[in-house]
Amino acid sequence: MKIGVLALQGDFAEHITMLKRIGVETAEVRLPKHLDGLDGLIMPGGESTTFGKLAVAYGLIEPIQQFGKSHAIWGTCAGAIFLSKDIGRDQPLLGLMDIKVQRNAFGRQVDSFETDLEIDELMKVTGTEHPYHAVFIRAPIIESVYGNARVLSALEDGRIVAAQEGHLLATSFHPELTDDTRFHEYFISLAS
Ligand code: GLN
Repeated sequence: MKIGVLALQGDFAEHITMLKRIGVETAEVRLPKHLDGLDGLIMPGGESTTFGKLAVAYGLIEPIQQFGKSHAIWGTCAGAIFLSKDIGRDQPLLGLMDIKVQRNAFGRQVDSFETDLEIDELMKVTGTEHPYHAVFIRAPIIESVYGNARVLSALEDGRIVAAQEGHLLATSFHPELTDDTRFHEYFISLAS
């Protein structure tokens, strides 16, 4: 099992640390050829507009779209924005996942927050019962899921913060910034 992490900008190093902790081989992805031989790809938190610009410049958009047809891809925060089909404004996107996302939906940097989430699927796959502590940093919300995408987790007020569409996964929050490896384990189960 070898998982790539998109390393154009953002907190890719934290994802790599988490993957190593659960014994997964990793690779930094900056160019199309770096996708060769990978079983899955994680796109980190950061700034989605920057991901877009650099991915266009390095010719990565189409190769990642092709990769996503048959491989697992997980986007956290900015990565989830980049993965989506619709954000209601014009910036380069992969457009792989049937979700509509609203950027910076909780407000500015000072409105960043942490909260516990009950995520049934995650608990089932990892055989655990305690809630998942999620970190939101200038986070997007998933406004709606359609097509084959489904809600994986929502806040108490119903706002969607995690979605899945087959082997594609999107989270508004940052599992790479906690000590809890369960979300990374969950992703590995999709990549296997
Ligand atoms: N606000 C960023 C964006 O719109 C995402 C922030 C993050 O990844 N923590 O791309």
